[in-house]
Amino acid sequence: MFKQFRDIGIKLTPQRMVIANLLTNNSTHPSAEDIYHAALEQIPGMSFATVYNTLEIFKEKGAIRELNIDPERKRYDPDTSNHHHLICVKCGKIIDVFDGVDVNVVNDTISEFKIAEVHVEFYGVCNSCEKKNNKE
Ligand code: ZN
Ligand code: MN
Repeated sequence: MFKQFRDIGIKLTPQRMVIANLLTNNSTHPSAEDIYHAALEQIPGMSFATVYNTLEIFKEKGAIRELNIDPERKRYDPDTSNHHHLICVKCGKIIDVFDGVDVNVVNDTISEFKIAEVHVEFYGVCNSCEKKNNKE
């Protein structure tokens, strides 16, 4: 992963290294706040702005993907492969959806556009929130 970041022209400072490390193989789709709190444990005094700006750079360079599925805050995904997402509207947990990645209906109906990316957002309630709901 570190090599990969360097390959796409991202200079890795120690602070950026910590953030890159926190993102590597992270499938929780963390927010900038999540990364910030985890990074603080390793580099006390790290500012939120540093974390946020680093995430923006990683995103611009294509190392991570920004998700806007959560109405509360931006979330980030180190998996930039083509896949969809499902969010729990109660707790904000986001999981990957790899089924049905090829949505051809758009290509068939719109001829003046070449589709670059298809992203489907599913909204639901996860099992543990559902269980909590039933107890209340
Ligand atoms: Zn939930
Ligand atoms: Mn994902």
